[in-house]
Amino acid sequence: MDEITEAIKGNEYYNEINGKIVRTINPPIYHGSTILFKNFEDFHDAGLGKYQGVVYGTNRMPSQRAFEEILNKLEGGHITRAFQSGISAITNTLMAFTRAGDHILVCENVYGPAIRFCKKILSKYNVEVTYIPAAVGENIVDYIKDNTKLIFLESPGSNTFEIQDIPVIAKIAREKNILTVFDNTWATPIYFKPLALGIDVSIQSVTKYIAGHSDILLGTVSVNEKYADMFDDYYNTMEVFVSPQDCYLALRGLRTLKVRLGHHEQAALKVAKWLDGLDIIEEVIHPALENHPQHEIWKRDFSGSSGLFAFMFKKDYSIEQISAFINSLEVFGIGYSWGGFKSLVTAGTYKRSADPARAGKVIIRLNIGLEEVDDLIADLEEGFKVLGEK
Ligand SMILES: *Cc1c(COP(=O)(O)O)cnc(C)c1O
Repeated sequence: MDEITEAIKGNEYYNEINGKIVRTINPPIYHGSTILFKNFEDFHDAGLGKYQGVVYGTNRMPSQRAFEEILNKLEGGHITRAFQSGISAITNTLMAFTRAGDHILVCENVYGPAIRFCKKILSKYNVEVTYIPAAVGENIVDYIKDNTKLIFLESPGSNTFEIQDIPVIAKIAREKNILTVFDNTWATPIYFKPLALGIDVSIQSVTKYIAGHSDILLGTVSVNEKYADMFDDYYNTMEVFVSPQDCYLALRGLRTLKVRLGHHEQAALKVAKWLDGLDIIEEVIHPALENHPQHEIWKRDFSGSSGLFAFMFKKDYSIEQISAFINSLEVFGIGYSWGGFKSLVTAGTYKRSADPARAGKVIIRLNIGLEEVDDLIADLEEGFKVLGEK
C-alpha cells in the first residue's frame, strides 16, 4: 500500500456511550498526568518495567503514539520520537549520541540555533565541533578525525540552500562507524528519504510543513534500527513528552501534507522562474532550477521541491531601500518560520564559505504559501517599483 494511503487511512478508535460504540478515525486526545491501573498487579509490573501500557503522562499519550507511528513509516525509521520543537529534537539528538571527548562535524548551513547550541552547551561537555562547508561531499574525509563520532547535515541548507552529496557522505560515515544525522525539514519525507540513502537519523521541524498552519511548535527524530534502542533509552530517561493536543494537530497535518506540498512546490517554482527572468535579479537560489550549483545532485536524490527559496538583487541596495521594498509587500508577511499557509519574507546577509562571490550580498528568502500565486507575483512586482526599478 502507498505510504500516503496508509497515512490517510487512519485507525479506528472506540468509546462507548449508553452501550453503543462510538468509532472515530482520529485518536482521542487524552490529557493526563495520572494514568489509572486496572489493579495492583499491573502497577507492580509497571515498576518492574514489564507493563506494556502507558504508565504516566510523560509516557507518550495515544495521540503522540499515533502521530509518531505514521511519521515513522514515512521516514522509514525503526522508531520516531516527538519533541517540543524542531530545535529541541536537534539538541536532544546531539546530546543523546555524544559524550565528553568526542569530535563531531556540523555543516555550516544547518539551522542557526543548532550551531549556537554547539558553541554554548556542547562545548561545556567537552564535545569538540568542526564546522564544515555547506556543499560538502566526498571531501568530508578531510575533516574526519580518529574521535569523530557524528556528522550533522542539512540539505538544502538553511537560508542558502546548498545541496550535499548525501549517499557519498553516508557511505564514508558507515565505513568509519560515524553516526549521521540529517535535518529533513525542507523536503519532508514526501520528497526526500535520508534513511533510505544511508543516513542513521532524520529530524523534522514538524512546526513547518507537517503541522502546516503556523499554530504549533513540534519536532521529531526518526532513528534506524542500529541506533533505535540507544535513542529510546535516552528519550525515556529524559522523560521528554509533548502536548497530546499538539500531536493531534501534527497528525492532522500529516494527512494533508502531500497535497499541500504539491501546491507549495508548483507555486514556488512559478514565482522562482518569474524572478529568474527579471533584469534586477542576480540569482534565484532554488535547488530545482537548473542554474543552482548542485542542481544535478538535487535531481538525483530528491523527488520534489518545497516552497522555500531565496533570491539576490544585482544591485547592492541600501538597507533603507530593502526595508522599503519589504515593508511595501501586502500579501507577504514579515516573520520567522515557514511551511505554513501564509507567504512570508525575510532577509539576511550571505555568510557561508561555499561561495565567496556571494559574500556580504543581501539574500531575500521567500516562503511561498497557499495563496493564489498570481497575487504573490503581483505583490512582488509592486514592491520592486519601490526600489526605483521598472
Ligand atoms: C525552523 C527549523 C528548525 C527548528 O524548528 P522549530 O520547531 O522552530 O524549533 C530546525 N531546522 C530547520 C531546517 C528549520 O527551518
